[in-house]
Amino acid sequence: MELIIDNLSKTYSNGIKALQNISLEIPTGMFGLLGPNGAGKSTLMRTLSTLQEADSGSVFLGDIDVLKQKNELRQVLGYLPQQFGLYPKISAEVLLNHFAVLKGISNKSERQELVKALLQKTNLYEVRQQNLKGYSGGMKQRFGIAQALLNNPKLLIVDEPTAGLDPVERNRFYNVLSELGEHTVVILSTHIVDDVKELCTNMAIINQGQVCLKGNPLHIIEDLKGKVYKKTIEKPELDLYKQNYQVISEKLFLGKPTIHILSDTDPGDGFTGVDSSLEDVYFSQIFNYSNLKSN
Ligand code: ADP
Repeated sequence: MELIIDNLSKTYSNGIKALQNISLEIPTGMFGLLGPNGAGKSTLMRTLSTLQEADSGSVFLGDIDVLKQKNELRQVLGYLPQQFGLYPKISAEVLLNHFAVLKGISNKSERQELVKALLQKTNLYEVRQQNLKGYSGGMKQRFGIAQALLNNPKLLIVDEPTAGLDPVERNRFYNVLSELGEHTVVILSTHIVDDVKELCTNMAIINQGQVCLKGNPLHIIEDLKGKVYKKTIEKPELDLYKQNYQVISEKLFLGKPTIHILSDTDPGDGFTGVDSSLEDVYFSQIFNYSNLKSN
């Protein structure tokens, strides 16, 4: 099973080109869709989830024509949107059971088994009788995954799931997701590089509605090997470095900016080579892209 997106485009009525000829082949496993805010990730996720229309292009999940056979797709789709409302005054177990009824699982003992298994899978079994009102952000997101898995989906779409989670909760969430990938196409949309680094075997970076890079994260990182250098500088020097070098990121380290630059050759000047990371890849793509646009 593969998800094939071919030349998908969408322009909103205000003229914003949210998707511009997006083409991606997504196999089973975890696929990371990485891009800054406003890149078009949610527009793509909503289109794949049949919640909004594209202007042109096609999407196929196996034999299913996603843009046309919406009902067929919905039967094999699990979707965790960026924000979803929960009834606060009932327990996770009761609500999940209720969703299972809505999904047409009418046999009571089968339903109870499924609800139990999903609560265990998402590490919520111990707290299944608590009202959702008392759940933390991470627990709510894991509940979101549990409800998205009720119909044993072939396509699971998870839109910015770790935004707002603390590192411990984020890790728990990663653990739940990492169990899922093998037989399902899982698309994880995020602006957090670590989400992709930890979980995904394939990825794409999108910016301003276009795919700027796609492939296997390890290969992509390998391509930058030997080209990333770093230096800790003084704050007032930053503009000068930006003029003279291809600065792809700047981070504070013990109060001082540490910059990463891209260079095909050793720049000298106090720079030292560093192992390239997915973060470097991401920032270099975004950097290249904004430069192309402004030139
Ligand atoms: P992301 O999820 O990557 O942050 P979005 O898909 O939400 O990106 O947005 C892509 C672009 O489309 C942004 O410039 C956003 O402002 C714009 N946009 C999103 N939804 C709408 C809408 N309903 N009407 C008009 N513009 C929109």
